[in-house]
Amino acid sequence: MPENFPDFRIIGNAPETEKEDLRKEMVGYFGEHHLDSLTEGQRQQLEKGELVKTPKEEEIIDLVNQKTNELMRQSGVEPFDVPKNNYHFVPKDVYLKIKPPGAPGAAISFDRHQAAVFNATYFRKSILEFATTIFHETLHLKSHQAIQLNKVGRDLEIATSRSGVKVYSSHKQNIEGDSHGHLDGLDEAIVGEYEKKFFNDVLQMPIFKDYRDWFLSEEVVKERKLIAKERRINEDEIFWKSKDSDHKCGFPYFYQRQVLNYVVSEIQNDFSKDYVSKDKVLAEFLQACFTGRLMKVAHLVEDTFGEGSFRVLGDMDVGDQDAIRTKEHMRIIRSRFKRKNKTD
Ligand SMILES: [Zn+2]
Repeated sequence: MPENFPDFRIIGNAPETEKEDLRKEMVGYFGEHHLDSLTEGQRQQLEKGELVKTPKEEEIIDLVNQKTNELMRQSGVEPFDVPKNNYHFVPKDVYLKIKPPGAPGAAISFDRHQAAVFNATYFRKSILEFATTIFHETLHLKSHQAIQLNKVGRDLEIATSRSGVKVYSSHKQNIEGDSHGHLDGLDEAIVGEYEKKFFNDVLQMPIFKDYRDWFLSEEVVKERKLIAKERRINEDEIFWKSKDSDHKCGFPYFYQRQVLNYVVSEIQNDFSKDYVSKDKVLAEFLQACFTGRLMKVAHLVEDTFGEGSFRVLGDMDVGDQDAIRTKEHMRIIRSRFKRKNKTD
């Protein structure tokens, strides 16, 4: 049994004893038994295809645990390490067999099972991108988790209800074919924004010294400025996968993060006495991820954008177009709110 582990919240109408059993079982996933909860097929694939981690990769996992624990402490949440064994690096063909349909092509976290699986064929080409993605998935794993456990007749039905700020549809809705998420765009925006911040931490690691010197050289800084101008984005959005790759990447969920940054800066604008910087506002959103308590951020959003605006933000999904539309919508309701308050 690990020393520190996540505080899984079990809700639903199942008897308390059943809930306690499930909680114990889930804490057990957090360590040696975390694979027990995967399907037989998924587990066999994992066991067959698992690759041995390199010392560099282990070093990165340690740094990720350390940095995410700092964020947890700052949010007033008890920190815990995700054990190295819970990170699974597998070749592409195995990854594709394990990931659920529709899941991303490179990495996925099974929040309830406290496992993260990575397509190592893809990531081992760029250890830097690997590092930021490990951070991303770890932040999902350390986010607040709430599980629904319901007694239906003689059976127990289990389903993830909340993960971070994300709310899942109920088991009943899933069965009826109405499976959907709410606040998933916001959840990814928060995690993605901290992933971008983590990039600077990772650059400081001795194993990335060569890359860092090159990345911060005059020549590369100049090129980043040019690309940023062309794409009309900030230059800090662009990095290279490796020194000798000409593939330039951006951090994930760019449009969702644009929405979040816009919301955060408008809040800071109106509540500058309480929040001296945008980072302080952003920290409230991160805290909501860790605690699952949405009240504070919901109030901040509604006090800045007007009644019903948190719902608009929550409706944003993980698609680019949807986030672009959400930003437009938020802008409109913000100016309407400002006009109304002026005339009141
Ligand atoms: Zn994610």
